[in-house]
Amino acid sequence: MDDTILVLNAGSSSIKFQLFSVGPGETLERRVRGQMDGIGTRPRLLVRDAAGAVLADRTYDPREMADASQAQDVLGAWLVGHMGGAPLAVGHRVVHGGSTHIEPVRVDALLVEELERLVPLAPLHQPGNLGPIRSILRRRPDQFQVACFDTAFHRGHPELADRFAMPDWLYEEGVRRYGFHGLSYEYVASRLPELAPEIAGGRVVVAHLGNGASMCAMVDGRSVDSTMGFTALDGLPMGTRPGQLDAGVVLYLVAQKGMDAAALERLLYHESGLLALSGVSNDVRELLASPEPRAKMALDFFAWRIAQLTGALAASMGGIDGFVFTAGIGENAAAIREAVAHRLAWLGLRLDPAANARHGPRISSADAAIACYVVPTDEELMIARHTLAVLRQR
Ligand code: AMP
Repeated sequence: MDDTILVLNAGSSSIKFQLFSVGPGETLERRVRGQMDGIGTRPRLLVRDAAGAVLADRTYDPREMADASQAQDVLGAWLVGHMGGAPLAVGHRVVHGGSTHIEPVRVDALLVEELERLVPLAPLHQPGNLGPIRSILRRRPDQFQVACFDTAFHRGHPELADRFAMPDWLYEEGVRRYGFHGLSYEYVASRLPELAPEIAGGRVVVAHLGNGASMCAMVDGRSVDSTMGFTALDGLPMGTRPGQLDAGVVLYLVAQKGMDAAALERLLYHESGLLALSGVSNDVRELLASPEPRAKMALDFFAWRIAQLTGALAASMGGIDGFVFTAGIGENAAAIREAVAHRLAWLGLRLDPAANARHGPRISSADAAIACYVVPTDEELMIARHTLAVLRQR
């Protein structure tokens, strides 16, 4: 099949993928979505078509699929069999593009080397992202591949939003506030002119609330500030990450508790956040359903921090005209949206309860000073669009 774009979002224990067909007028239509997960533990391939019908559901012996590279081989074979050939192009989600990449770029060996050098800046995500890029480059050097970066959308930040108050040598070697979830924000920005024309050209806070959570200050569809910084640990509390943290806590854990980098990584990426606060779960669905007072406290903390950081982002923009919720929690949890709006009532954010219960798109009340929307994100479609655009520019 020669009219297909394959989108890959590869992590350390899972590979998510989608296939889009390129139609007349360069339209993109989603055909297939699937994932290979449980790599190394309980490998499973689950693939559905656009209507949700299951196309494949297979489990594998973990000895046959002990690592991501073997999983890529199995997935590659399934895809080629399903498509009857290679795709027109493959678009990859790559978490880190460093300080230079402000847009998606065609993959070649030099780029892979450059992106490898960024692994220390994103050690949990970058290696997984680069795995399939490297293996396709090795097996099918002519396959057109495009890398799409989660940092790129934020690279236009003014210097103030890009720096820590630390010595220059750290800044020069890349210790900067990059910001992440850029593909999601870029997609939301592309939807605003149609869905929310009255705020698309204005000052908007977009809250990407999913497993990872961050917020972006957007002026006229461009990012000017983000709650995420050097890594995806900054800003809002997340399922298992604490969000913004006094660096003195890390010093204390090292000096007084003898924690090394591996122990800190476990604590900060996997054992903190809503899970730690609630003692119940990292999943907002479970927290909303839980009778435990600590579950309620964790959700209050989440909404409180969203409201606090909205104030900070509004200050970065010199005001605020709109607020947008997106990603798993932002799109589905009406109670969280209500809790955030309640805390931002002083700013003029008021919801229409019926519209909020319907999940939008517009959920603010007629008398609200700030327009509020729910805009479902689609990072894979954003990657497919970029991939096709880079292919056509060739
Ligand atoms: P994402 O990373 O965007 O896929 O978001 C995943 C998170 O969204 C999950 O961990 C849940 O906490 C949350 N989520 C998904 N569906 C719902 C729902 N119906 N109500 C509340 N939270 C939800």
